[in-house]
Amino acid sequence: MRNGQAAVTRGGDNPGVQRETETTRGRSEVTIDLGALRRNVRRLREVAAPAALWAVVKADAYGHGVGDAARTALAEGAAALCVATAREGAALRARIRRGTRILVMGPFDAGDEAVAQEYGLEVAVSRLPFPDGLVVHLKIDTGMGRYGLTAEEALSVPSDRVAGVMSHLATADEPDETFAREQLEAFAALAARFPDATAHVANSAATLRFPEARHDAVRCGVALYGLDPFGHDPADQALAPVLSWRSRVARARTLGPGESTGYGRRFVAERPTRIGLVPVGYADGFRRGLTGTEVLVAGTRRRVLGTVSMDSFAVELGDEPEGADVTIIGDGVLAEEHARVLGTINYEVTCGIRTQSERATRTTLDG
Ligand SMILES: *Cc1c(COP(=O)(O)O)cnc(C)c1O
Repeated sequence: MRNGQAAVTRGGDNPGVQRETETTRGRSEVTIDLGALRRNVRRLREVAAPAALWAVVKADAYGHGVGDAARTALAEGAAALCVATAREGAALRARIRRGTRILVMGPFDAGDEAVAQEYGLEVAVSRLPFPDGLVVHLKIDTGMGRYGLTAEEALSVPSDRVAGVMSHLATADEPDETFAREQLEAFAALAARFPDATAHVANSAATLRFPEARHDAVRCGVALYGLDPFGHDPADQALAPVLSWRSRVARARTLGPGESTGYGRRFVAERPTRIGLVPVGYADGFRRGLTGTEVLVAGTRRRVLGTVSMDSFAVELGDEPEGADVTIIGDGVLAEEHARVLGTINYEVTCGIRTQSERATRTTLDG
C-alpha cells in the first residue's frame, strides 16, 4: 500500500497524476488506531478502579475524531463522556447510544439551559443561582483560579439538588506536588459534605499519579489518546499513541552551496544538499515553529529545514526518492517531541491538526 502510493506520487512529473493523487488521497493522512485507544482505556480503568473512568472527548477528542473515540471508549467501559461546551454535547448526543451520560464541563450559562434539557446533558455549575430541572455538578474552585464556586457558595446549595461535586487541578502534571495535594485536600473536605453526590477531580495526570485523587470517577482526556500528561514517552505510563500522521516527499531537489529553501532564507546550504518538500504546513497544523524537529523519511529520522510554510515544509534527505513516505507523528516519532521543539504541550499539537477534506484525510483503523 505504502509502496504503491509512493510509486504514484513518483509520477509527479506528470501534473495530471500529481493532481489526482492529492485529490483522492489528500496531502497527508491522519490515522486513528482504535486498538490503541481500547488498550489505553483498559489501562486507565485498571489504574482508576474502583473509580469509574469518564472519557474526555472535548475538542473533537483532542483532534482524534469525537465519534469513534467516544464509541470506542464506551465500548471499553467508560461510564460517561465529558465535553467542554453544550454545543459539543448536543452534537455528540446523536452519535452515541441512547442513555449515555454526557457532562458539559465548561461553565454553564443561561443560554445552555434549553440545549442541556433537549439533549439530556449534565452540566457543571460554577455560578449561583442555577435553574431547576438540570442534572448539576457543582464545580468548585480549589485553586485553579478560573471558573468555579467558592467553598461557601457550594455549601449553600442543598445536597438534593446536586448530582456531582467536581474540581480541577492546576498542577497535577508538575514535578512539585505541594499545590496539587492542597487542592486535593480541600476537595476531599468539600466532597465529604455531599456524600450522595459523585465526587470527581482527577484529570489524566492525577489519575496516574495520586491515588487519593480518584474518588468516584476520573476524567481522563489526554492519556486516552496515548499522550503522556507529563510530556515524556507515553510508554512510561504503559500508554500507546492513537494518532499517526503521514505524508510523502512530493518533490526532491538539490540545493547548491549558498542556495536556500523557504521564507527568510533560514536554511542556506553550505554544500550540495538534497531536500524533500512535504505538502503539509502550518495551515494543516504543522506549526511554523517546528523548524529543526525530526520526522521519519522512509524510516530514517530527518530534520525539518528552514521556515515552515502555510502549505509545505522542507526536510533534509539522504538518498530517499521522491514519493518516499514521511511520518510526522507515529512509528516512534512522538507528538511530545514536536511539543518540546515548540515549547508547548502534546495536547496543543494534536488539537491543532486540521483534517477537513481539502487538506488531510483522517482514517480510522480498528485492531
Ligand atoms: C480537559 C479537562 C480534563 C481532562 O484533562 P486531561 O489532562 O486531558 O486528562 C478533565 N477535567 C476538566 C475540567 C477538563 O477541562
